[in-house]
Amino acid sequence: MEKRLPLQQVPTPAYVIDLPALRKNGERLKYVSDNSGAHILLAQKAFSSYSVYPELAKYISGTTASGYFEAQLGYEEMGKPFGKETHVYAPAFTSEDMDKLLPICDHIIFNSIAQWKTHRAKASAFSKENGGVQSFGLRINPEYSEIETDLYNPCVTGSRLGIRKCDLDNELSDFYASSDDPESRKVEGTILEGLSGLHFHTHCEQGFEPLFRTIKVIEEKFSEILMLPSITWLNLGGGHHISKDDYDRDGLISEVKRLSKKYNVTVYLEPGEAVAIDAGYLIGSVLDIVENGIRIAILDVSAACHMPDVLEMPYRPPLQGSFEAGEKEYTYRLGGNTCLAGDVIGDYSFEAPLEVGSRLYFTDMAMYTIVKNNTFNGMPLPSIWILGDDGLCTLVKEFGYEDFKMRL
Ligand SMILES: *Cc1c(COP(=O)(O)O)cnc(C)c1O
Repeated sequence: MEKRLPLQQVPTPAYVIDLPALRKNGERLKYVSDNSGAHILLAQKAFSSYSVYPELAKYISGTTASGYFEAQLGYEEMGKPFGKETHVYAPAFTSEDMDKLLPICDHIIFNSIAQWKTHRAKASAFSKENGGVQSFGLRINPEYSEIETDLYNPCVTGSRLGIRKCDLDNELSDFYASSDDPESRKVEGTILEGLSGLHFHTHCEQGFEPLFRTIKVIEEKFSEILMLPSITWLNLGGGHHISKDDYDRDGLISEVKRLSKKYNVTVYLEPGEAVAIDAGYLIGSVLDIVENGIRIAILDVSAACHMPDVLEMPYRPPLQGSFEAGEKEYTYRLGGNTCLAGDVIGDYSFEAPLEVGSRLYFTDMAMYTIVKNNTFNGMPLPSIWILGDDGLCTLVKEFGYEDFKMRL
């Protein structure tokens, strides 16, 4: 029997995926792809709740993955059997990875020239045997990013992510020497032989303008490669807040159209956040209230275990019905039920006092939460529910002691 409850009765701790909100994001993504020709993929590292993939499949072209497990999931739940694409990129693939990825992936993107050289014979042979279905690309590092936090900046000095123009040029002397005219240069026999695309990922929670400026740099550095007839796609990565209210979707559409036309490429976007932003709750309950110069509420949800980005980024997550500390009469520090002193979600104020049993609804909790959670301190994993159009939540999964023990 399906378990169905109103949001207010879902037992805590619980993640609730908001299906109508997910659809709203999907509509906005589809608007961009319908009007620009871009293919939009879900970056599963942000959100891999495959029970809603059939719904997401109505709006996007497929999934991308950070390695074999995500690729297999994307293939099984939103891949070729559904007429959808499966892409994968990782800093490094093993030969065993390639054996498993080649039969299920449309695009495989390599992070270094050495990786491409290692795998290209096997990859190209496999693709040839299968009518050229599999296509291969390189991740480039344009050495230009407007991300201010180093933790999220793939262009930071010493970055391991992507190939710089100077490193690519070092490998391309034959290519450049083959002709002074960029249009008559020969790809055969160079490392560009067998490659069909370029990929960059240099954004994080950004609007259209930083992308626009980044594309300028990409074109300055890589246009002679993009111009090649053998290069048929350009992947603009993720980190684009495409589904936010104030995102310049029409600006993105015209830029995608311009790029597609100028270089004769299919343009890909692979957002994670933009698919699942503002599309879920993490619901917790107050277990105890203690005092230490400030009132502190101890919750059955933990920053460290259930929303680790709160500590990693760090940020103070939005909480329904709450205000800034000190803004209303009752201020509390909210903390998890672990031994980590820093397992603090943040300081919030409320119009009424919290009590043991009070329920708290953290919002924007679908992405980078369920995929990142852990059982540190033996903390229970929140159950997972889907909030439907009728306002009722359907249970997807519950976890218990066995889920803790099985991984140890
Ligand atoms: C993280 C990542 C994405 C998705 O990023 P969002 O910020 O969630 O949109 C896409 N592509 C690559 C290569 C990534 O590493």
